[in-house]
Amino acid sequence: MPSSSPSRAEPILSRLLGVPARRARVTHVEHVPARQAGDVGWPEWVSEVLVTRWANQGIFGLWPHQAEVAELARGGRNVIIATGTASGKSLAYQVPALTSVLDGGTALYLTPTKALAADQLRALRALDVPGLRAAAFDGDTPYEERTWIRQHANYVLTNPDMLHRTLLPGHARWSGFWRRLRTVVVDECHGYRGVFGSHVAQILRRLRRVCARYGADPVFVLASATASDPRSFAMRLTGLQTAEVTTDASPRGATTFALWEPPLTDLRGEGGAPVRRPATAETADLLADLVLAGTRTLAFVRSRRAAESVALSARARLADLAADAAPGRAPADLPDRVAAYRAGYLAEERRELERALRAGEVLGLATTNALELGVDVSGLDAVLIAGWPGTRASLWQQAGRAGRAGQDALAVLVARDDPLDTYLVHHPEALFGRPVEAIVLDPGNPYILGPHLCAAAAEIPLTEDDLEIFGPTAKDVLADLVHDGMLRRRSTGWFWTRRERATDLADIRGSGGAPVQVVELSTGRLLGTVDEPSAHSTVHAGAVYVHQGETFLVSELDLEAGVALVEAGTPDYTTFARDVTEISVLDSLRSHPLGPGELHFGSVEVTRQVVSYLKRRLQSGELLGDEDLDLPPRTLRTRAVWWTLPAGAVAPLAEAGIDLGGAAHAAEHAAIGMLPLFATCDRWDIGGVSTELHADTGMLTVFVYDGHEGGAGFAERGFSRALDWLTATREAIASCECERGCPSCIQSPKCGNGNEPLDKAGALRLLAVLLSLDAPPGG
Ligand SMILES: [Zn+2]
Ligand SMILES: [Zn+2]
Repeated sequence: MPSSSPSRAEPILSRLLGVPARRARVTHVEHVPARQAGDVGWPEWVSEVLVTRWANQGIFGLWPHQAEVAELARGGRNVIIATGTASGKSLAYQVPALTSVLDGGTALYLTPTKALAADQLRALRALDVPGLRAAAFDGDTPYEERTWIRQHANYVLTNPDMLHRTLLPGHARWSGFWRRLRTVVVDECHGYRGVFGSHVAQILRRLRRVCARYGADPVFVLASATASDPRSFAMRLTGLQTAEVTTDASPRGATTFALWEPPLTDLRGEGGAPVRRPATAETADLLADLVLAGTRTLAFVRSRRAAESVALSARARLADLAADAAPGRAPADLPDRVAAYRAGYLAEERRELERALRAGEVLGLATTNALELGVDVSGLDAVLIAGWPGTRASLWQQAGRAGRAGQDALAVLVARDDPLDTYLVHHPEALFGRPVEAIVLDPGNPYILGPHLCAAAAEIPLTEDDLEIFGPTAKDVLADLVHDGMLRRRSTGWFWTRRERATDLADIRGSGGAPVQVVELSTGRLLGTVDEPSAHSTVHAGAVYVHQGETFLVSELDLEAGVALVEAGTPDYTTFARDVTEISVLDSLRSHPLGPGELHFGSVEVTRQVVSYLKRRLQSGELLGDEDLDLPPRTLRTRAVWWTLPAGAVAPLAEAGIDLGGAAHAAEHAAIGMLPLFATCDRWDIGGVSTELHADTGMLTVFVYDGHEGGAGFAERGFSRALDWLTATREAIASCECERGCPSCIQSPKCGNGNEPLDKAGALRLLAVLLSLDAPPGG
């Protein structure tokens, strides 16, 4: 295809690769072409008033995907739009929502954060539509305004927490609003995953029930980042039939995307394994080289501490280069043109930084993605991304910062030493093809459903007819609630008769158990809360705790008081908690053969104890030590996916000298590392156990379980995508060029057994048997 725009990215990339002594590999270069879009005008039912208001803002019609969403919603169909950032999702739902408001209806807008609701409200007010009475209703809304909103607002912006605690329990006071409710917008709904998502799913069911009570049947319009199979996610979240729109027709600049794998170094880690050069160190070098070439570059890292260290290293490298260069080749002021985006910038400081970047006075900026909240920079020449940011949505959001009109941009993803990053830089189709990551939740989790059934009964007594809304597990959970004295069964249904507020039973942002408060010792400032299960591994004594990009050291974890005391610090290392785990099978709910073995999904009981933590140097990844911890074991009833191989299938491997325990253990580590590619979870949301012979199965067994009471849907997703997941796991191990295993493939930073035993070649053979692949030649 002839390109009208000169490629700037290519020469920049070649220059990066041409730097002497560079040992990294560029595993793939993808040219993502520009996309031109034409709008299709407005659907004929959009009122003159709205068309004029949007025209005032320079919007003269809808892109095809927006029109499709608007038409579906207008026709009464629930719909999810799952497209990239800057694809105009807001307009897609505003068109039908505002149209129904102008027709005399009301609209409810839900978003996970107050900040997003505030943005939406600003945008709606700027439209200045006569008759539109939009208002945010959240924890900050003064009581005197609340009455006005209940009585008069016709476009209410709120969050699931408020819906749960205030709007639904007080539904009678909102009767006028519910009666006319025509549109429910669920924005940024990819945030509703795991345990939190399961709670929100139940809150939406309660909302549907309250609406039905007032004779309303609103249409649900959901907006999400790109994901695999958004339609089934939407149906799980709302419990309703939903259409999907996934084709993004918005215009986009061209991007040259390079996948970059730092080299293995001579440093040795655990068990003598080679250590890969950290993504941050590699990123610092690249940033320096790009700045030297006059390229305006943004480097994304995980924490502000890392942002500062990347900026510092880049400056040092530039100072060296300037000192070595021939006069006039590398200006001596170059180091000063690299900055780190720090915490707590005032608005005017942010504007100044934006100006300096645009003017080219600052050429290189290292930042956490906290930048997305405060600074408006775009149109840069290059973006460096240190480590897979967790989802394709974040990847494209970060990459999208580069590119000026008519010119292409360079984006570089620098791999961390992690099996998922290793896999991705060797499998570009997982990044540039169809998404494989699904947004996963489990609304049927009885630990989550129970409290919401109580809340629903307190709102309006439950009847047999309501059971369908709450899903197939509702009946059993209700029986348990009656047995425990939480609900009373009468001839007309189930009643909440206790004095306390039923909504207090559900801790929708936590996951059971009182959350641990994280408090800054010197100031007494409450930084946030961590749910109790995660507290053991994230805020144990000695842990490096990153909160909104700022780094703290934990001085004490008091589980009894539910408090972790922390101090701001600048350690040059990171910490990883290690745990030992035992698991027993309670019930296999689903199973099918897999190769010569079997795959299961079911309930398990996990006993997990955090026993120590590992320190690794920030700059080199070098192992600094392993410190013991004294924390009590925790027992968890949850869901797991597991596979077994019978003795007959593994005997030939043992005969060939493979350590079966080490092979299963290595496969387990890599599989845990890879599951986040298929389910949008974090490696720390899941855990695993592997054994050559498990007492409950009598066979070699590898378990991967949800780390939350009752399960969160991640293991279930692993079960349903097992073939792809385990194939990718095997490929991640095979792609790593180390000989016997390293953190980029089979070592796990949270292994309670000190990454012993591990057998890399054995894991490849074991997975080949399970996946019925032909034995590799010579292997
Ligand atoms: Zn390796
Ligand atoms: Zn392990």
